[in-house]
Amino acid sequence: MFKLTLATFAILLVVVASVSATIQHYYDHSVYRVRPSNVMQLSMLQKLVEDGDVDFWREPDQINRFADVMLRPDNKDKILKFFDDNLIAYNLIISDVEKIIERERNEQLAVDEQLKTRADARPHNEAVAGFWKKYQNFNSHANFVAKLAEQNPEIVQKVQFGSSHEKRPLVAALIGEKPNSSKKAIWIEGGIHAREWISPATVTYFAQQLVNLYNEKDPTVQDLLKYYDFYIVPVLNADGYEYSHTNDRLWRKTRRPSTSKPTCIGADPNRNFGYQWGGTGASTNPCSETYRGDSAFSEPETRAESDYILKNLKGRLASFIAVHSYGQYWLYPWGWTSAVTKDDAKLNKVAKAAVAALNKVSMSTKFTIGTSTNVLYAAAGGSDDWAYGSANCTYSYTVELRDTGYYGFQLPASLILPTATETTAAFLELASSIKSAK
Ligand SMILES: [Zn+2]
Repeated sequence: MFKLTLATFAILLVVVASVSATIQHYYDHSVYRVRPSNVMQLSMLQKLVEDGDVDFWREPDQINRFADVMLRPDNKDKILKFFDDNLIAYNLIISDVEKIIERERNEQLAVDEQLKTRADARPHNEAVAGFWKKYQNFNSHANFVAKLAEQNPEIVQKVQFGSSHEKRPLVAALIGEKPNSSKKAIWIEGGIHAREWISPATVTYFAQQLVNLYNEKDPTVQDLLKYYDFYIVPVLNADGYEYSHTNDRLWRKTRRPSTSKPTCIGADPNRNFGYQWGGTGASTNPCSETYRGDSAFSEPETRAESDYILKNLKGRLASFIAVHSYGQYWLYPWGWTSAVTKDDAKLNKVAKAAVAALNKVSMSTKFTIGTSTNVLYAAAGGSDDWAYGSANCTYSYTVELRDTGYYGFQLPASLILPTATETTAAFLELASSIKSAK
């Protein structure tokens, strides 16, 4: 009997180990770019999103604006026929997704090797820069925040504002001179969608630059840190992000099983915020990539972030920036309706200033500034709408970083620093513009 139990236990162990090590492959998956040219086509594509059988890398949100959709070998013919039948224009942009994931994995390993062999000889600055030579996992980002605080105790604190479903710490770097409740605050939300790896990489670089420039006595940054407390969250969707490193490179959602259909894991955290929750553009299907969640703030990550902001920053939150990829868009509320906010002109002006600063660093990175007036299809439950609508934050933005779809989520690690550098210029300008607009 005892032997049998041990044997059963051993088998169970093997099963558990093999399940947790399952890696999602994407052999012969392809990505197509579609361009809806009328309302009918747009709503048909929106229906595909809702059905949840295909994964939109970029969702269809406007007529004549591209959307990218990944097709599996088993549904490709059916979906392409659907496009043909409805005269929806499309073209192939990635023929084998597995190949680009493999290229990215090899690139990551090569950087590891390179850094390992030079580890002892590197001066400190280069060691720090090495952080952005590859995409880091969840723990590296948490350690980054801890170290930044440890090495710069006068201006940086590590703030833990909650825990993820799988009990990972949700942390922000609080950067400011003598942080206190009479200062204005800027909250930067990185890594809410797991597969958008350039987001955590970019926001941590921005944090490092704030600290470096302050220590170098850069007058602009010294002023900014006197005026603002910056809260920089590297990875809000901690579990999803880690899962995208260990099991499924293209994971987007959180990792909490839904109540109504527990085999479908996770909600879209950017449809889970409790402002106009459940409206247009948020799926009720737990298997969809844009599932709104079981209820508003059903995900511990969105709840922790919103609770912390309401408790500590309401009334002083000057700006909220959600950092995503890809598409190169600088968007602002509303996302849930095509109506414009009373602050439309202000939001547009600051977005334009930020993008102009970005283009001073890199002329060729073109951003589209999203005016709410031409948003035809809404996406309710986003963090930017919530920050504007529930947390009294005027300058609330969603930024979609590089690129416009050539690499999509698998932006090569060699493009982290160029992306992070141009975005840093944009964020600094944004902070300065808002400060002088007062
Ligand atoms: Zn996103």
